[in-house]
Amino acid sequence: MAKQARNLRADSVSPIAVAKPRLPLADAILPYLRRIDTARWYSNFGPLVQELEERLAHRFGANALAVTCSNATQGLTLTLKALGATPGTLCAMPSWTFVATAHAAVQAGLMPWFLDADRDSWMLTPQTLEAALPRAPGPVSAVIIVAPFGHMPDVAAWLDFQDRTGVKVILDAAAAFDAAGDPRLPTVVSLHATKVLGMGEGGYVVTDDPALASRLRRLTGFGFEGSRLSQHAATNAKISEYAAAVGLAALDAWPGDRLRWFTAAQTLRQALYGSDIGFQPGWGRDWTTSVCVVATPEGAAPRLIAALKAADIDTRQWWGEGCHASPAFAECPRTDLPNTERLARSTLGLPFYMDLDAADAARIADILKSAG
Ligand SMILES: *Cc1c(COP(=O)(O)O)cnc(C)c1O
Repeated sequence: MAKQARNLRADSVSPIAVAKPRLPLADAILPYLRRIDTARWYSNFGPLVQELEERLAHRFGANALAVTCSNATQGLTLTLKALGATPGTLCAMPSWTFVATAHAAVQAGLMPWFLDADRDSWMLTPQTLEAALPRAPGPVSAVIIVAPFGHMPDVAAWLDFQDRTGVKVILDAAAAFDAAGDPRLPTVVSLHATKVLGMGEGGYVVTDDPALASRLRRLTGFGFEGSRLSQHAATNAKISEYAAAVGLAALDAWPGDRLRWFTAAQTLRQALYGSDIGFQPGWGRDWTTSVCVVATPEGAAPRLIAALKAADIDTRQWWGEGCHASPAFAECPRTDLPNTERLARSTLGLPFYMDLDAADAARIADILKSAG
């Protein structure tokens, strides 16, 4: 194995990065910038932001409304506030998520309560939370469920849970631009450069509830509504017309980019065919995202990471050991987290980008197969 890694290194062309984001090119953004020059409207819900929100909402059906915001983390915080989640109460969430989910709850004045993810779907299930509720270490006013790396949870099952328990459900679909499409749960999507559709920094919340959408809009804009009187505590989380220009150009490019993401996924799947590497259900086949996180045999991750590194191939354990392991959340209550600990030990983010070619895929697969 070590010998092969050295040989590959000797004749390999260049290092393989774990991600290579590609946002709209300047020429594609320019027509939108010219519209800004003409309108002389630069921020505060201008025409480009309105168009972007309409196009984003349209992806969720006729009744959906989208509210853009400075990033998905702010989107989650403001959605908790707009729903009236009580400060000082617990906000349930899986520990198996990006730390932003937990930061968002803390910024809304709630205490994260970490629960375990399902072994196969890598998600918190309504069954797990409902069973844990009677033993919750305090009142629970909300749960943030997560679409791990872009894989959507069962929205209908969570709507049932919300009806039965009264706990408000918010969906952190930060990485699920492609798969998200049901406005019945407030759904927060990120437009960060590393996500599948990027505009640098940015995010949006989709809902089918007009009252929730206007509360969210007010929260992003100083609590103003139709006058200079601030109606309640709020912040500034608006996006500018310049950000919207990039977002609109990214949406124009999306049909082609989406095909490129799917093609790259198929290339990697094909190279790894017959190995003991497991993909998320439907990854690169039914839905796409900007990362490739795979399941490896229990205990194999450190060996695979080292072998790939020796061949100049970068990997990333995107969510580390889970949120509960971060010092920032050491004081937060949690249940036992055996599946989260197992995911931390056995999953691995492989290099993935929309122009990943067969040669790169073969280099990655050769190492994984020989070190596996
Ligand atoms: C990327 C991500 C976020 C943060 O999104 P930002 O727009 O960078 O704030 C939150 N949650 C999850 C699950 C993510 O993957």
